[in-house]
Amino acid sequence: MPDHSYDAIVIGGGPAGSSAAATLAMKGRRVVLLEKEEFPRYHIGESLIPHTYFPLERIGVIEKMRQRSFVKKYSVQFVGVSGEDAHPFYFFNRLKHPAAQTWQVLRSEFDQMLLENAREKGAVISQPTAARELIYENGTVVGVRAANRDGDALEFRAPVTIDASGRDGVTISRSHWRIRDPYLDKIAIWTYFRGAKRDPGHDGGATTIAYVPEKGWFWYIPLDGDIVSVGIVAEKDYLYRGSRDLAAIFRREVAMNAWLVDHLRPGKQFGPYRVTAEYSYRAQHCAIDGLVMAGDAYAFLDPVFSSGVFLALRGGEMAAEAAHAALAAGDASAARFTEYGRQMCHGIESMRKLVYTFYDHKFSFRVFVDNHPELHGDLTDCLMGDLFRDFDPLFHAVANFAGVPPALDFGGPLNGGPVSGIPAAIAESRASAGVLPRR
Ligand code: FAD
Repeated sequence: MPDHSYDAIVIGGGPAGSSAAATLAMKGRRVVLLEKEEFPRYHIGESLIPHTYFPLERIGVIEKMRQRSFVKKYSVQFVGVSGEDAHPFYFFNRLKHPAAQTWQVLRSEFDQMLLENAREKGAVISQPTAARELIYENGTVVGVRAANRDGDALEFRAPVTIDASGRDGVTISRSHWRIRDPYLDKIAIWTYFRGAKRDPGHDGGATTIAYVPEKGWFWYIPLDGDIVSVGIVAEKDYLYRGSRDLAAIFRREVAMNAWLVDHLRPGKQFGPYRVTAEYSYRAQHCAIDGLVMAGDAYAFLDPVFSSGVFLALRGGEMAAEAAHAALAAGDASAARFTEYGRQMCHGIESMRKLVYTFYDHKFSFRVFVDNHPELHGDLTDCLMGDLFRDFDPLFHAVANFAGVPPALDFGGPLNGGPVSGIPAAIAESRASAGVLPRR
């Protein structure tokens, strides 16, 4: 059996894995990425948010993004059931930076581009190669057993492994570490249309969130090739009442929103109706000795604000930076990933609070901003994905209008420090603002 030794192994070639592999390769590390599928392959998660720009820039793909025909996204809009347009929410009104224009992507193309980029940066890509099991020595992960297309056994060895295997979650599944968010327990049903209506000008690339009365919401995401991705998110019992036929459920719910009916009328549905369950979750731990998790392999949040790809890219990058530092120190024990876990949980919590707010029927973004015009900018920044900064003032104020959940107190490394601490960067910024003593 061939033995491949590297500085780092990355499991999974989605946004988290490709960004982790590119980041490590750019730092001169010998890294191998194992991806079980042949690319291009289908994936959901098509709408990006403005702050996605920055990790994409750091791994050197902004020019490649511009050369593609991905639809340009300038805004998001929320549409009520009777079809009345809420004001489109333009990112360029807040962010004076090229990042204010983001994209709606075909994931098959986007993910392939990111994987190719990791290869160009020096990562070895082993594909199709499925990670089968982690190799432990004295309780530390020292490598991965895998199989290639023909089922031949392969073994990869490295002092650190980044698990970026998405919702399959190699580590989270085998350790039974997937803890579901009880309130955000929804499912999604979606499909695609050709020739459906697009709004004129800049609005043609907007993500639209269209409400179903009291119960859920649709996404409407315009893609390249006159395609629109349309899906509903709601509670399982609500969607499956009366029927389990996905097409029938989808049509029944579309009929409840006048804007959707109007926009889909000229369109022709194609391809299967798809469904996913097991919605929002986080792993009990983000790291064990010799291994750290990133992207959906670590945590998944309800996609209403399109944060998944951003969190995957940024999480992959941050996991790679922590792994690089661990390699330099000659110590890849779980505790080395304490700050990584803290930062990730802080960023995820910012978005999680916003997601809870969205599902609180009492809450209106417009009423909140009318009462707190001074927090309009913070709210916008959070929606655009600037998640790793201090949002305490925003969520203290939001708590007077909606139920803001307490932060989850798990997700740190096994045997590492608590995850609930304040990330170092935020402690620093508070210290310089005179809020906390410098640590
Ligand atoms: P993935 O993209 O899933 O990549 C994981 C990779 O690992 C895959 O290529 C898989 O083949 C590979 N893999 C798995 N197991 C193994 C193994 N054993 N060995 C080797 N390789 C393996 N996000 C957004 O930003 N915008 C949206 O509009 C959006 N909408 C969504 C709608 C729905 C219904 C859902 C469910 C999600 C949505 N998301 C959205 C979230 C987004 O899809 C994910 O957050 C994102 O794809 C996570 O990237 P990742 O790299 O962590 O995982």
